[in-house]
Amino acid sequence: MLLQLQPEAPAATLTALIQDLLAAGLQPSPVPWLSAPVWSLAPTNGHPPDWPGAARLARSHAGVAAVLAGDFELASRALRPAGTQVRVAAPVGTVAIGGGEFIVIAGPCSVESWEQMRATAEAAAAAGARLLRGGAFKPRTSTYSFQGLGRPGLELLAAAGRHAGLAVVTEVMAPEDVPLVAEYADLLQVGARNMQNFPLLKRLGRQRKPVLLKRGAGASIAEWLAAAEYLLARGNDQVVLCERGIRTFETYTRNTLDISAVAAVKELSHLPVLVDPSHATGRRSLIASASRAALAAGADGLCLEVHIRPEESISDREQALSPETFAALMASLRPLAAACGRCL
Ligand code: PEP
Ligand code: MN
Repeated sequence: MLLQLQPEAPAATLTALIQDLLAAGLQPSPVPWLSAPVWSLAPTNGHPPDWPGAARLARSHAGVAAVLAGDFELASRALRPAGTQVRVAAPVGTVAIGGGEFIVIAGPCSVESWEQMRATAEAAAAAGARLLRGGAFKPRTSTYSFQGLGRPGLELLAAAGRHAGLAVVTEVMAPEDVPLVAEYADLLQVGARNMQNFPLLKRLGRQRKPVLLKRGAGASIAEWLAAAEYLLARGNDQVVLCERGIRTFETYTRNTLDISAVAAVKELSHLPVLVDPSHATGRRSLIASASRAALAAGADGLCLEVHIRPEESISDREQALSPETFAALMASLRPLAAACGRCL
């Protein structure tokens, strides 16, 4: 629950409010990334909180302008109508996601070798990508599949990013891996399978690097935004959402790209949203049209899988674009971006 405070509330009024909240077993803390005075309330005594009672108590205080009780109040557009820009540190300057620029992330599903990462990074940068992707800790359906290179993979990814002047993004799967992955990554990815890994979300909310939160294949929009709330409530507002397709009865495509979710999330939330047409379609031949649809629907960018030799890709071969196909796709997006009032 959030309390929106009267901007001019006298200190004595707020002190009395804090005392009453603490006595009711609720710890108020200011939301550090909001300029307006807003407190989030957390239960302190281990007992299930009495939220209706807390709301009544808060409303009885003159310093409280509004009580917001919902699962994604901090993520909601009403709190920041102009939208959030997420700033990702790059080898030179920063990349802003959620501004006027349509941001493209490109790179292989998995980091495989230095040669692969160097060549992919060069091709991605030359075609206009702003971030390099590559998985070092891979969430694989089968325990017998390649699980990623781990730390050496992170080193190759970061070195290739520096080499080509690109910021890098990679997945972190476990809370205990956050410090290691954050050493190398400029943007930390939470994969679809981990969207509701709450210990992971809590850990990522307490550190300062930006987070790319993919939508779970079976998650509703409300569940996705409630997952983002875990990060926002712990002080990290640098959150980018990513629609990557949901599980439906359709089998021709790997998942079903929920293009309406892009517009829905823009309406409901201030957070920027990307689309991943690679995992959404699972088919090389469909990625360009899904990418153009994402841009037209108002997405802030794309996440695309690109491999120097798609036919040799260790994971997700069917959806890997060659550098040439990727460059052609980028060229086809440029006039559309201009028509949509975005630059690319
Ligand atoms: C990925 O982007 O590497 C990935 C595994 O995607 P998802 O979590 O969307 O399946
Ligand atoms: Mn993949």
